[in-house]
Amino acid sequence: MSVAGSSLASMESRPARHPQLRTLVCPACGERGLLKPLLWGMPDESFDHGKYESGGCLPPSSMPPDCRCTGCGQDWYRDGVSGFNN
Ligand SMILES: [Zn+2]
Repeated sequence: MSVAGSSLASMESRPARHPQLRTLVCPACGERGLLKPLLWGMPDESFDHGKYESGGCLPPSSMPPDCRCTGCGQDWYRDGVSGFNN
């Protein structure tokens, strides 16, 4: 007797259309590759804490920061960090 049809693990991979955060330098601590995407809202069981940072259930504003440095803990707007590449 075999049990089939348990598809709990559905890998969802979205194409990245924004600048790679790992290539950006944190303006505060100057480290490269420590920025992670910052997601707002209640994280569910599929939330990947290795890839993303959880900002919390409620965004602090209508335009909350969208990335966080895991080195110094500072939140950033990706567009703002992009300008600090050089
Ligand atoms: Zn930093």
